[in-house]
Amino acid sequence: MRHRDTSSTPSTSGKPYAVQRTDEEWRAALTPAEYQVLRQAGTEPAFRGEYTDTKTQGVYSCRACGTELFRSDTKFESHCGWPSFYSPLAGDTVEYIEDRAFGMKRVEVRCANCGSHLGHVFGGEGYDTPTDQRYCINSISLRLQPDEDPAAQA
Ligand SMILES: [Zn+2]
Repeated sequence: MRHRDTSSTPSTSGKPYAVQRTDEEWRAALTPAEYQVLRQAGTEPAFRGEYTDTKTQGVYSCRACGTELFRSDTKFESHCGWPSFYSPLAGDTVEYIEDRAFGMKRVEVRCANCGSHLGHVFGGEGYDTPTDQRYCINSISLRLQPDEDPAAQA
């Protein structure tokens, strides 16, 4: 049986991803749950992810390749059940792919370095953020690296 595999779709820029692994290598590197979301564009259950309500200051990196993707200061409370950010760390750290699965037109967000699935981005929902965008990202696609000294940020 063939699943929808993110590695079978080329990068939107047309360039190969910096991190290239075979399906077997990804399976070995990730837990089954991580593999299902990152490499098969799955979605973790709402309100279950470990970072849904996290307010720790730090940087969220791609769990598959370690690229820094989001900063905690763009994370906001969307009450949607998944970690939500209004902007990525830099514009080119993520890429966007039109996703028409399930009869909806959505924009999938992937890590631009390894092509792994992160979540989706929605706009114009009326959230009181600088961009009015909601990057709805699976906790399991991310790994939080807390800042060394939280007191130094005050
Ligand atoms: Zn990555």
